[in-house]
Amino acid sequence: ARSLSGRRVALFGLGGSGLATAHALIKGGADVLAWDDNPESVANAQVAGIATGDLRQADWGGFSSFVLSPGVPLTHPKPHWTVELAKAASVEIIGDVELFSRERNGQAPDVPFIAITGTNGKSTTTALTAHIIKASGRDAQMGGNIGRAVMTLDPPEPGRHYVVECSSYQIDLAPSINPTAGILLNVTPDHLDRHGTMQHYASIKERLVAGSDTAIIGVDDIYCAQIADRLEKAGKQVIRISKRLPLTDGYFAAGEDLMEAIGGRYSRIGFLEGIGSLRGQHNAQNALAAVAACLKVGLDLGEIQSGLESFPGLAHRMEQVGRKDNVLFVNDSKATNADAAAPALSSFPRIYWIAGGLAKEGGIEPLRGLFPRVAKAYLIGAAAPSFAATLGEAVPYEISGTLDAAVEHAAHDAAQDRAQEAVVLLSPACASFDQFRNFELRGDSFRQLVAAIDGMKIIGG
Ligand code: ADP
Repeated sequence: ARSLSGRRVALFGLGGSGLATAHALIKGGADVLAWDDNPESVANAQVAGIATGDLRQADWGGFSSFVLSPGVPLTHPKPHWTVELAKAASVEIIGDVELFSRERNGQAPDVPFIAITGTNGKSTTTALTAHIIKASGRDAQMGGNIGRAVMTLDPPEPGRHYVVECSSYQIDLAPSINPTAGILLNVTPDHLDRHGTMQHYASIKERLVAGSDTAIIGVDDIYCAQIADRLEKAGKQVIRISKRLPLTDGYFAAGEDLMEAIGGRYSRIGFLEGIGSLRGQHNAQNALAAVAACLKVGLDLGEIQSGLESFPGLAHRMEQVGRKDNVLFVNDSKATNADAAAPALSSFPRIYWIAGGLAKEGGIEPLRGLFPRVAKAYLIGAAAPSFAATLGEAVPYEISGTLDAAVEHAAHDAAQDRAQEAVVLLSPACASFDQFRNFELRGDSFRQLVAAIDGMKIIGG
């Protein structure tokens, strides 16, 4: 990262990506002083040859920039003091996406850079876009809020494509972000604890598309629809996408067909039929965004369709893990609250639903409209009694207790179902911490339990 060459830079946060950022800065000629409140991380950094020191005692007059590691919120109590010191000394506060953007803007502004944000679907859209580009035989570097930290991606060069997932926080610390194609999928209430108000939250996300050459915006929610109108009025090239409305101009989904509209004239540009990893209306939004971005960076429709078809999907997000006769087993362990469980419940008509864990406020009440799809519920963990009370007379249920018992009983019951397709769905609408260390281990455990069922046909890895 040569953009700060010869400058004195303060850096807070020495986890994996913080270390990578520190190394990149040093390599680019910056004089870095790094700190973390975790003594072990500081010791690691010292061993790696990074100068460390408590930033609260540093002379802030000498710093040109303060770099905060991804994942260290501005309001986090740890760097809070330091953030105040930086502000008082008028030192700019930036993140790794900003360093990445400056590097690219300075060295290779023509290297395609697709940046993705939104409340939901970021990781899926990022992984899908990178997959389509790679499947077409081109080089795609994927990172940011998913996978590798941006500073560890290979340096810009012709023929390379960057596909970067950005959290609101990363956008907030990246004033010069300037993607070739910026994707804003949706804005729905979430993370308000960190950003205060919805308008403020939406305005941070708007910055990503405002900074891009082409803004690809999902217009199915009111915030994003307004952002699209505003940017277009300001003269930006805007591509609208909708998972449900026929647009006059833009890309939209009609059932499983992907449509392009130009001045009210429609043509079919692709389809999702038969692509298991992209089931559900929410995935139509993700796919349309990926398609729009890939078209923008020069792929053709044939390449894009074949990339869509070979997309393996992401683990723990409506991941199809096995099939036995007419029963499909789906791991949606990432759904740690009711909102996140809604897409999976909406995607299948006949569900044997495994839910529970540590409930969030409101429990499964927001999912009531989807209860008719549930043939039976299998409740696990601490939330079981309260979920049972919500299900009441509306849905048959049992309190299974453990995931093992739930999988066994759900598989048994679903096998008796005469529906063309019955789905055993782990979509817990809960955090996992009462029974599992994290949602990944919960999903892994589900996958193993499913794989152990006699006669199971495993799907994917
Ligand atoms: P993120 O990275 O934004 O958290 P993911 O792609 O990891 O999003 O998807 C997480 C969950 O959010 C999925 O399992 C699904 O339930 C839901 N989801 C995915 N895409 C969308 C979308 N476009 N709109 C609404 N919900 C979505």
